[in-house]
Amino acid sequence: MNLPFDPAEVSRRLLVWYGKEGRDLPWRNTRDPYRIWLSEIMLQQTTVAAVIPYYKRFLTQFPTLDALTAASLDDVITLWAGLGYYSRARNLHKTACQIVSEQGGLFPDNLDSLMALPGIGRSTAGAILSIAFDKSAPILDGNVRRVLVRLFAWLEDPRSSQAEKQLWLWAEALTPEEKPHDYAQAIMDLGATVCTPRDPDCDNCPLHALCLANKRGLATELPVARRQKKVPVRQQVALIISAADGLLLRQRPPEGFLGGLWEFPMIDLPPRLKADQVAARLLSELCLHGSLEKVGEIRHVYSHFKLELSVFMVNTVIAECVAEGSKYCWCSDVELESLPLHGAHRKAYNQFGNNR
Ligand code: SF4
Repeated sequence: MNLPFDPAEVSRRLLVWYGKEGRDLPWRNTRDPYRIWLSEIMLQQTTVAAVIPYYKRFLTQFPTLDALTAASLDDVITLWAGLGYYSRARNLHKTACQIVSEQGGLFPDNLDSLMALPGIGRSTAGAILSIAFDKSAPILDGNVRRVLVRLFAWLEDPRSSQAEKQLWLWAEALTPEEKPHDYAQAIMDLGATVCTPRDPDCDNCPLHALCLANKRGLATELPVARRQKKVPVRQQVALIISAADGLLLRQRPPEGFLGGLWEFPMIDLPPRLKADQVAARLLSELCLHGSLEKVGEIRHVYSHFKLELSVFMVNTVIAECVAEGSKYCWCSDVELESLPLHGAHRKAYNQFGNNR
């Protein structure tokens, strides 16, 4: 492949820069594949600042692969609550069990075996291989993608399949045989701290003299912006129902959107129907009685839609219809504090839960 500069020069410059400016992160001083894998999964679509406390708590509770395998999925999801993208937590648990039962607890050290595990794509596999096993393997996470788009001045949509193919080729061409462990972290750090999305600091970038976007004055123009898609708005109604036994909650099915998380009874609000009508219908489906009081609305943004949640309070004395043998259960406030409620319902509880 013809490159506009010597790839060895890129890694040389990056490694020198990393030696001086690399970040000191909790998962940096280890080669333990379990810890590297955990950090990489947590960092998918999540900032370092958000991940650090979760990473530390997770390792305190599950310091090893065996400890994670011995935990229940509920325990893992409880610890994950608030970090979002919950399929990651489910895959984490599934992968741990798979490695222990099928590979004797040893992390695979090759690309194909890693990519066969749940939740591990090519970039995460590359990060584990290079950081934990010091093997030369390209990575292409969000930070690296942005650096490459600018370094090679890719002017097209960076999310197209053509871009995907080209970016992987460049990532491969630049990944050195020497010190792949440091190189992987260096290029990720460069994207996170210097070649940032809005304000790239080209003057202080080690790739300044090589970078095509910098030479052409395009650094802030790239990557080209995604055409804004209209985010759908979903309306729902939730009931915070209190009785002597506590508040009524249910757990979502383990698979699918927000799988395994807890929530108040809720229902979609069909167009043209009023929230109080739908709330009354939901209450009657639960075979409960009590006066409904609308206490407010919660807005919450999920990855693919915006939620407008109308919240009603209900005090009821008859709890048995939904308490026995159903997916619902009554929880005290103390229990509820430690349950993994999903984002919008945690907001509703924090805002309105004490109004009863
Ligand atoms: S010179 Fe600027 S645009 Fe190019 S890699 Fe460095 S920070 Fe990014």
